[in-house]
Amino acid sequence: MAFLELSNVSKQYGELTAVYPLDLCIEAHETCALIGPSGCGKSTLLKLALGLLHTDTGTIQIAGERLSESNVMVLRQRIGYVIQDGGLFPHMTARQNATVMARFLEWDESRIAARLERLTELVRLPNDLLDRYPLQLSGGQCQRVSLMRALMLDPDLLLMDEPLGALDPMIRRDLQIDLRQIFRELDKTVVIVTHDLNEAAYFADETVLMRDGRVVQRGSIASMIDQPTDEFVTRFITAQRATLMGVKEGVTAREAQGEAP
Ligand code: ADP
Ligand code: MG
Repeated sequence: MAFLELSNVSKQYGELTAVYPLDLCIEAHETCALIGPSGCGKSTLLKLALGLLHTDTGTIQIAGERLSESNVMVLRQRIGYVIQDGGLFPHMTARQNATVMARFLEWDESRIAARLERLTELVRLPNDLLDRYPLQLSGGQCQRVSLMRALMLDPDLLLMDEPLGALDPMIRRDLQIDLRQIFRELDKTVVIVTHDLNEAAYFADETVLMRDGRVVQRGSIASMIDQPTDEFVTRFITAQRATLMGVKEGVTAREAQGEAP
């Protein structure tokens, strides 16, 4: 069953079309990676699914319910959202950040404590860090807290916008490993935005490649290599591979983003 279904969804910012009318269906329990060059509309798509932005055309269904003004606040409680810099409240401790929604919903203390304990184990955050403020935590630790906050209400859907994008390579690798383990353990529906092909292949069953507000191809990375639907797909993949090999062959940063030389 489709858990997240976008039908004919589009979005403009003034004159600029960030997302052209598109359909996108994410099955329940699927992990889907959304990939594509910077500015292709990935973040916009997640914000539309969260109801943080309104669609210009089309409809969004979450668990069979059509997202609207009247149910957005309730549906959003079924969605965990993690962004690149964590988006933690700087004036709240890790514990306060992680539990903010549960406290808002007036969960009782014992329920909050039990959930917090479960989540610190899950994301492998040492307990003594819970009373620190975000500024007293490393980038990787902040992302672990951000993930706890996103998972606090045990949402069905997890939307992650380049959650590892701001981390240095070794911390990033540690979190990649933990995150994949967490996805497997929790069996949620996950959409993870990345601009890294390897990360997409590592996390996701299905990858959706976007360009300029449109979906170019959907499937496994292997299928994009073997049966590209468009010359852009091959260029995007080749450029990313070249970047990995040390940008030796005169590949420019623009090409690495999948743009023409
Ligand atoms: P991505 O996440 O793939 O990098 P975005 O969804 O953030 O792309 O942006 C898609 C396009 O919309 C880009 O051209 C970006 O500059 C533009 N854009 C994003 N947010 C806004 C905004 N609030 N106002 C105007 N333009 C925006
Ligand atoms: Mg973005």
